Amino acid sequence: KRVEVPASVHGINPELVDRRAVDVVRTLQDAGFEAYIVGGAVRDLLLGLRPKDFDVATNATPEQVKGLFRRAFIIGKRFRIVHVVHGRGREHEVIEVSTFRAYLDNSAAEQVSGNERTSKAQLSGMQHAVDASGRVLRDNVWGPQDQDAARRDFTVNAMYYDPETQVVVDYHKGIEDAQKRVLRMIGDPATRYREDPVRIIRAVRFAAKLSSLGFALEPKTGKPLVASQHLLQEVPQSRLFDEMLKLLQTGHALASVEQLQKLGLAKGIYPLLDVVVQRASNPLVRAVLQDTDRRVAEGKAVAPSFLLACVLWQDVKAGWEQRLARGEHAFPALQDAIDEAFEQRIGDVSGRGKLAADMREIWVMQPRFDKRSGNQPFSMVAHIRFRAGFDFFRLRADVGEASEELVEWWQEFSLTDDARREDMMAQVR
Ligand code: ATP
Ligand code: MG
Repeated sequence: KRVEVPASVHGINPELVDRRAVDVVRTLQDAGFEAYIVGGAVRDLLLGLRPKDFDVATNATPEQVKGLFRRAFIIGKRFRIVHVVHGRGREHEVIEVSTFRAYLDNSAAEQVSGNERTSKAQLSGMQHAVDASGRVLRDNVWGPQDQDAARRDFTVNAMYYDPETQVVVDYHKGIEDAQKRVLRMIGDPATRYREDPVRIIRAVRFAAKLSSLGFALEPKTGKPLVASQHLLQEVPQSRLFDEMLKLLQTGHALASVEQLQKLGLAKGIYPLLDVVVQRASNPLVRAVLQDTDRRVAEGKAVAPSFLLACVLWQDVKAGWEQRLARGEHAFPALQDAIDEAFEQRIGDVSGRGKLAADMREIWVMQPRFDKRSGNQPFSMVAHIRFRAGFDFFRLRADVGEASEELVEWWQEFSLTDDARREDMMAQVR
């Protein structure tokens, strides 16, 4: 049932609404289409939080959307959407515009055997396809708004906000659930996890993000999580990796680890995530999770390479020490230990070359913080990744693994001029 809720009831503060999202909605409406702000942004607005990004839903097709904006790109295969880009460079903002999807019974979909990779050829040209277990491989059939609402995940994620009229459109009692602080899956939870197992990870993420506001998973929504977990094996590794980073890098890393443990999902979602949960009480890992949450809260950037460098440092260190004990030279021993850690822990996540290179640089810099002679310190501070390497070193000092005095020395050395640097080096000798 379609319920229209006026501003006097929902109380959304229009000042929290991104101007560019409003522009996108207006452009679509002026062209005669239906358009709303949708999903997590409406949920956050309703809770008085400032949304981190804004999604728009419309009855315009991706091609029609693209035609209305100067810089708009159709992306995605499984789920085609349009990225409308505003501004340039670091300040640029992407508004994701998705076309209303039809609610489709899986029995009506084309069935594809094998996984996403092996079935590429079969999938081409299909708009709605599922595999043998009911997992949706293509979801690109357009439909009316009420059907679009029914295929979203949680009731609090399925509301639409019209910034012009300030009306919230709610089909699944999302407003009521937001007030009651319940995360409720729309439809039959087990079926919804089968359609898209990533919803299991999303349940953890929203439970973590909203736990401080008093939210909890509705029991029926939480119950099938453990039994559904094996379905994640079918999901492409790259999508799991991205979802893992969303758990760890959107400001609720510690809460996410807590939820994983509480919900019985501490193991088996994704190998690297298992390692994070296992090591969450290790001082360096705990420190980086805390630090990441703090940085996100302060609106600062966070890098996956930094976080993962902390998580895997103990593997690198152990491998390095072993090799040193065998009498190998320090530098190649460290490089080999790094190779081994990558092989054992990261495996084959293709397209992560830059991430691995950044992690390696952070690690390789560590022994160099002990060397304060010759040209070493000058080339260190000139290194483009010095900040990351130094922040890592500082975190190691925070947990007692490196000396505070060295941290202070490098801090001053990196900030001062060359004359003072010569003095500082003379005093070390
Ligand atoms: P965040 O605050 O992290 O951005 P979000 O709720 O906006 O959270 P998005 O991944 O940005 O999450 O997705 C936007 C909306 O699209 C969701 O609120 C939900 O309505 C819908 N959605 C996204 N992923 C799924 C999914 N796997 N299954 C069903 N609906 C989904
Ligand atoms: Mg969002």
